[in-house]
Amino acid sequence: MAAPVTLTFLGGLGEIGRNCAALECEGRIVLLDCGQLFPDDLPGVDAVLPDFNWLLERADRLEACLVTHAHEDHIGGLPYLLRHVEVPIYGSPFTLGMVSGKLKSAGIRLPEMVALGDHDRRRVGPFDCEFLPVTHSTPSGLMTLFGTPQGLILHSSDFKLDPTPVDGRVTDLPRLRELSADPGIRLLLADSTNADSAGSSTSESSIGPVLRGVFDDNEGRRLIIGAFSSHVHRIQQIADAALATHRTLVVLGPSMVRNVTLARELGLLRVSDKMIATADGIDDLDPARTCVVCTGSQGEPRAALAQMAQGRHRNLTVGEGDTIVFSSHPIPGNEAAISRLHNALARRGARLVHSGQLGVHTTGHGKREELRELHDAADPELFIPVHGEYAHLVAHHELALERGMRPERVVRCTDGDQIRLTDHGLEPVGRVSDEYVMVDERGQALGEDLVDERRALSGEGFVLVRVVVDGKRGRLAESPFIESRGWVDADERGKWHAEVAAAVRDAVEAALGDGERDPAELARRARRATGKLVSSRTGRRPSLVPVVEVR
Ligand SMILES: [Zn+2]
Ligand SMILES: [Zn+2]
Repeated sequence: MAAPVTLTFLGGLGEIGRNCAALECEGRIVLLDCGQLFPDDLPGVDAVLPDFNWLLERADRLEACLVTHAHEDHIGGLPYLLRHVEVPIYGSPFTLGMVSGKLKSAGIRLPEMVALGDHDRRRVGPFDCEFLPVTHSTPSGLMTLFGTPQGLILHSSDFKLDPTPVDGRVTDLPRLRELSADPGIRLLLADSTNADSAGSSTSESSIGPVLRGVFDDNEGRRLIIGAFSSHVHRIQQIADAALATHRTLVVLGPSMVRNVTLARELGLLRVSDKMIATADGIDDLDPARTCVVCTGSQGEPRAALAQMAQGRHRNLTVGEGDTIVFSSHPIPGNEAAISRLHNALARRGARLVHSGQLGVHTTGHGKREELRELHDAADPELFIPVHGEYAHLVAHHELALERGMRPERVVRCTDGDQIRLTDHGLEPVGRVSDEYVMVDERGQALGEDLVDERRALSGEGFVLVRVVVDGKRGRLAESPFIESRGWVDADERGKWHAEVAAAVRDAVEAALGDGERDPAELARRARRATGKLVSSRTGRRPSLVPVVEVR
């Protein structure tokens, strides 16, 4: 019997975000990605992380963290994990550069960084790994083949099969075919993000001519293009169109500046010094000869585009001479913020171009035909769909069955599942926590109750009731004091507060008359009286905060 390999899925199976899995063999653990999830409408929550407790309890056995590519849903959890444990990080130079930037800005000492090149073979923890190039919407992504006592485990990373990528670095399917012929691929873990989309994705390089068309149509106008700062190939195509139309490229926003600098240093982005400018020089440039590339196309409130929309950007005022291009699709959940942004920019007179009108964006994730091609190349014995919302995982599962995999060879896992690969196949082991760990801007954890409280406060406000009781005489020492926020209109507060005060006075006096002196019980009575009045008279359910003091 060969040693089994245990996989623990800490996140990313059932949501797009916080991708994180542990591979364990003979007591040694390698972490595969460590991402965060962007919180959707959680008040004061900056990031949602996997629950690292299971991992931290085994920190002495954690030997490496492998990061497949530079997206936040794969590296965004590292600053939080590395506060508690030091572990070497393996990844491509670009991915490691992005990780270093994040760790430095979080004030965390850099651990050992091990750079991986395409086709490298290297021992990582207990595994003999091989790394293959893969195309995606950020450069230098790596597929990983884990050589284990149970055979090869292939992790696809986020991928599409782009036959004509901007850098010419195609996904290495030939090597997969070779390995699948000999020695064979035992288990495939593959990206499910677009498993419910038919056909194939459009090549990234097809965006260039569309962008060029936008440049031609907007001659004489300033161009402002919003894109993801990690999407180096998109930025390359924007830069190429700028060069061809004799525009200077202005790089705006801290993350855009940081990533462009990193990509140029690594030779991944080719823009000459002559044609690039920073925000400070923008006033000296002819707007008709300027192309601004910036962040904020997802409606992020602190990013450059949002500041422009509010007329608060330090270097740039948007007006009628501007054309603003949104070179990205709305990520689900961001639609409302993006539409507000469109409206605010249009109000300033700007002309808008977005992916709904023109092909100025393509996805970084393979659609069904591409997934099928990967499955055909790898031809795995076993398959677990990963990276996706639950419906994506189901769609990918079905695709594998359609391809002819026997049902017992496809296993659907979700966050928190632990599964073991043995000589006999995949068998479930148990469950670990799949809880959403929410942290604020300072990296401090926020409990679920705390976030619920904040949500309740932001929804219906609060009513505070303070009662002082003269314990000896068994009566109120003074009139109940009422304060509220977010419950009723400010000019009606006085009237409502008086009603609440009267109801609370009656309830507390009745209790005192029955001989009740316990502050906790008196507070319960005050709360009940307040709640009854508040809901019956206004139909609202603010948070109630009764405070009773017995003197
Ligand atoms: Zn990605
Ligand atoms: Zn991802």
